Amino acid sequence: MDANTAPNPDCSSTADTAGGAQPCIRARDVSRHYTMGPAVIPAVEQVSLEVATGEFAALLGPSGSGKSTLLHLIAGLDRPTSGSIEVAGQELARLSSEELARYRRHTVGMVFQTFNLIATLPVFDNVELPLRLSEVDRAERRARVDEALGRVHLTARRNHRPSELSGGEQQRVALARALVNRPALLLADEPTGNLDSRTGEEIMELIAELNQKLGMTVVLVTHERPLAERFVRRMIFMADGRVVGDHNGSRAQEAR
Ligand code: ADP
Repeated sequence: MDANTAPNPDCSSTADTAGGAQPCIRARDVSRHYTMGPAVIPAVEQVSLEVATGEFAALLGPSGSGKSTLLHLIAGLDRPTSGSIEVAGQELARLSSEELARYRRHTVGMVFQTFNLIATLPVFDNVELPLRLSEVDRAERRARVDEALGRVHLTARRNHRPSELSGGEQQRVALARALVNRPALLLADEPTGNLDSRTGEEIMELIAELNQKLGMTVVLVTHERPLAERFVRRMIFMADGRVVGDHNGSRAQEAR
């Protein structure tokens, strides 16, 4: 792996950093208020938290508690009203719009509840898209797409269109697309929300595998606590825009 394609060392754990002494994400007093006419909606209110390098963390809480807003702030898709967010040692507020675009392309991979695949393109081309935007050359693109499809066990479906795939397979394509730039931080917003429970478990298993094998830091939004409990050690609970609980226990999986 060359220096340009290796995962960002500040957010993905290697043998040396496993255990995650170094924080990947450091949020301090972060608020995001939406103004709707005369009303101010405090979607995120005074949140401070750290997520260690290599950690797999879930943001839990009822609908409207601010989970997605916080995830979008970490992703650099939105800016806080106040407070600061550092990811991989970079203060996001200090980045220019080009630097922020680069951060979103190279440091972060993102998946959503809706798979957001391009219906007219085959699987291979959907996964290749971020590499075209990054102007990676053709041979390298091919190798990286093959690698990403292998990681999500979809090599055999490379020439299919999204409509020919099941929901779980489409989410795996979206995961491959998020991985193809080898991000150090994977952010997932309700990735199992559109899937039946068994398929949802398979996607969680895959995300847990990526966290362990690639050392990628993962933050996942879900309102499905039993699912999170099975796969995730760190559970951060939100209510009314605030962090109201932060558990770092052992996973049911590990107890087996
Ligand atoms: P969750 O992900 O926990 O369901 P959200 O972060 O989506 O919660 O929303 C938190 C609060 O912010 C909710 O009250 C929601 O209605 C409000 N909100 C989210 N996005 C916007 C927006 N773009 N404009 C106004 N209010 C918003």
